[in-house]
Amino acid sequence: MKYSYISHLYCPKCSNTFSHEQKNQLCTCGSPLLVEYDLEQLGKELSKEDLVGRVSSLWRYHELLPVGDESDVVTLGEGMTPLIKMPAMGEDMKIANLWMKDEGIIPTGTFKARGAAVGVSKAKELGVTELAMPTNGNAGAAWSLYAARGGIQSTIVMPIDAPKITRNESAISGSNLYLVDGLISDAGKIVAQSVAEHGLFDASTLKEPYRIEGKKTMGLEIAEQMDWKLPDVILYPTGGGVGIIGIYKALTELKKLGWVEGELPRLVAVQAEGCAPIVKAWEEGRSESEFWNDSKTVAFGINVPKALGDFLVLEAIYQTNGCAVAIEDEALLAEQKTLASLEGAFVCPEGAATFVAARRLREQGWIKEQEIVVALNTGMGIKYPDTITVEVPILQKGDTIKKSIKS
Ligand SMILES: *Cc1c(COP(=O)(O)O)cnc(C)c1O
Ligand SMILES: [Zn+2]
Repeated sequence: MKYSYISHLYCPKCSNTFSHEQKNQLCTCGSPLLVEYDLEQLGKELSKEDLVGRVSSLWRYHELLPVGDESDVVTLGEGMTPLIKMPAMGEDMKIANLWMKDEGIIPTGTFKARGAAVGVSKAKELGVTELAMPTNGNAGAAWSLYAARGGIQSTIVMPIDAPKITRNESAISGSNLYLVDGLISDAGKIVAQSVAEHGLFDASTLKEPYRIEGKKTMGLEIAEQMDWKLPDVILYPTGGGVGIIGIYKALTELKKLGWVEGELPRLVAVQAEGCAPIVKAWEEGRSESEFWNDSKTVAFGINVPKALGDFLVLEAIYQTNGCAVAIEDEALLAEQKTLASLEGAFVCPEGAATFVAARRLREQGWIKEQEIVVALNTGMGIKYPDTITVEVPILQKGDTIKKSIKS
């Protein structure tokens, strides 16, 4: 038994192949690279029942992950997040089987920890000592902290408007942190320049092949947590698209292994109305998106005007008969309140958007009442305290509360 069954890297655009034993970034044609495994051999030596009783983190799937040696694993215990039923929300939107995969309960408070854990581990294995990346906040926070744990120096550039907590997480880890008065795309240009000048490892979204592998584990966990019976629909808040590409890749690999059967779930890319390049491309039946000008949304993690892996996101949608939906900020903020009051779940704005999308797709009949639906909450609401506005009565010392609290 090997620790990992990784076999090589390949380009989904031009089919070029590369070694996983060297540092690789993009393909020579400019496309992101994907990781291939020797699934045939893996399938002979491992069965899904062997997973029972393994560590309760994403490393339980190490054969399907790219790190070759356990000693290179950099972990804070990420993964195996709860998949919980949402009966009150389900009743409210007439979906009998509504579930939430809750990524708020993971180190650093967002699912970016998955990509960082696997990406940093592989970087460490390849001998990377310094990495750099642009970020909307959450990825930078996660990569700074995991890099610190892995003994790797990080340089992070984020928009000045990125959630302040992510700035603090990066700074306290000892990262070289910079703020830019602009968008993630502006941060990306600055990082690309310094990568070229100083020879740093570029850990930008999809410019290294291993972040997808970390995020893939959300798909593996959903399958295992549902006892290897796949749901009908999975909704995912889509920015760079790594999560939805990863989930699609995971389910495809499980299918090849014969661990799941039948149709794949219909994958739904949920975006913000103020930044919806994937939705626009999908509505126009295109295979790539166009840069979205003046993008703006409170759901900071999905403010990505042009994703490098847009063609892979669209492929995942088309191949699974999924769809793409854009949600207004007011609607997702209202849904955030509904979720907290009906289910006690304080989700991030991006996560709330997936529930609005489920509600609307149900209203349109695209989701049927009895279908099994999984909405991804990609992070905890606690990371975005400023998106909530509340009015609270202020008492003076000695005041009494006149109204019954229940009324
Ligand atoms: C980054 C992020 C997303 C979008 O993830 P992608 O995989 O890049 O599409 C969604 N939600 C949150 C909270 C994020 O931080
Ligand atoms: Zn290529």
